[in-house]
Amino acid sequence: MQTRELESPVQVSLQTKKNLYIESYGCAMNFADSEVVATILSENGYVTTLNEEDADIILINTCSIRENAEQRIRHRLMHLRANKKRNNELVIGILGCMAERLKKNLLEEEKLVDLVAGPDSYRDLPKLLNEVDDGNKSINVILSLEETYAEISPTRLNSNGVTAFVSIMRGCDNMCSFCVVPFTRGRERSRDAESILNEVRELSNLGYKEITLLGQNVDSYLWFGGGPKKEFSKLTEEEQNSSINFAALLEMVAKVDETMRIRFSTSHPKDITDEVLFTMMKHTNICKYIHLPAQSGNSRILDLMNRNYSREWYLERVARIRELMPECGISCDIISGFCTETEDDHRDTLSLIELCEFDFSYMYNYSERPGTLAARKMEDDVPMDVKSRRLQEIIQTQNNISKIKNKQKEGKIVRVLIEGSSKKSDEDLKGRSDENGIVVFPKENYKAGEYVDVLVERSTTTSLIGKVIAKVNKP
Ligand code: SAM
Ligand code: SF4
Repeated sequence: MQTRELESPVQVSLQTKKNLYIESYGCAMNFADSEVVATILSENGYVTTLNEEDADIILINTCSIRENAEQRIRHRLMHLRANKKRNNELVIGILGCMAERLKKNLLEEEKLVDLVAGPDSYRDLPKLLNEVDDGNKSINVILSLEETYAEISPTRLNSNGVTAFVSIMRGCDNMCSFCVVPFTRGRERSRDAESILNEVRELSNLGYKEITLLGQNVDSYLWFGGGPKKEFSKLTEEEQNSSINFAALLEMVAKVDETMRIRFSTSHPKDITDEVLFTMMKHTNICKYIHLPAQSGNSRILDLMNRNYSREWYLERVARIRELMPECGISCDIISGFCTETEDDHRDTLSLIELCEFDFSYMYNYSERPGTLAARKMEDDVPMDVKSRRLQEIIQTQNNISKIKNKQKEGKIVRVLIEGSSKKSDEDLKGRSDENGIVVFPKENYKAGEYVDVLVERSTTTSLIGKVIAKVNKP
């Protein structure tokens, strides 16, 4: 997703006979899901408001990945008490992973919540909202083996008109021992390849210039007519041979519009194949960037995490990427202080970061999640102060590398897709390099959606700063 944790909640508003306001938290998958929710509800007569104060309905699409993600939602609900006091007709709904994890307990614990809907029940939202209108609390947290919302064209919310997410699969079968996702998002299932291509064509026609294919483990994508991935082994050889894997999908998507950049996230180290790497090499519009979460650099810890690869396997995959695509950007997710982690294990993580020279990483303290294998069978035995000290060392190691890697780009030319104004100044634009580096440069007459070559003049730990030397017309 990462699918990725986005920095701040996007607040989206829809105008209707009933005004609807959606907030999304957590990974990109949640943000993409909110766009599906917006379409389902707009087809049922709900319209947008840009102002939370005007809302008749507030939906919060939630994240459960770490305890602090849930605490953030609880705080938000506390603030919403004032809205409900001002307008006792206001409907408040919880969507997503926290809804799925806590189910009806959420209705009991948070009295102001009227509606709870898990990630596979969004088609049911109009009915659930009707039940609330009739004076009842409503809930649907049934997980599905088939639902992919395949034919629903997402309403692009808070869009920059340049980049968009396209979900290609849902759920996860991996059962990493620390992770709540398999419990909140259910079994892994892939979306019909044709419906993905239709969505990409539609985005191309609308002028979008970059899409990111989303899934918890995109390398595991497999379209064989629908249903859970685990059913694949029951198919005949002929049926199996006509299936579409991730490399094939990537190729089909890349061919839709060669002026459109293609990205994907997240790749699992145990599943990323040479076939995918060859496909990336073959198409200039597939960005040379891979998010490849390692979680730890120690094989014993990886085994306890049930990641199904070793330190050596991970290092080999990174070496292969660098052999085939020397300039490829690689980023990582790291967890500090997983159960039984020793100082030596931790040093293995630091050395993995140094050996792999990641462009950047998302780094977290381990947070025990109820119901996971780790919570049931292992002791969360690394004290918080030790976890946090190790996390600081991990962050410091990564920052040093990011700084050096960005410095090495000074004097070089990077191709950038312009996304919009820079955060700091309207006089500057920002975009991303092919390898996913953030690039900032003076605006002049350039516009969002254009490709430009930028000469990098300066750099920081997180960005490259330069000036445009040429406008170009392709990725
Ligand atoms: N499916 C992706 C993968 O396998 O890499 C990542 C999904 S998860 C939404 C994003 C990241 O959150 C993970 O890569 C992991 O680093 C982190 N994460 C998941 N569970 C966690 C936990 N219990 N405590 C701390 N971090 C966690
Ligand atoms: Fe969670 Fe592992 Fe699945 Fe990623 S691959 S979503 S970390 S269970």
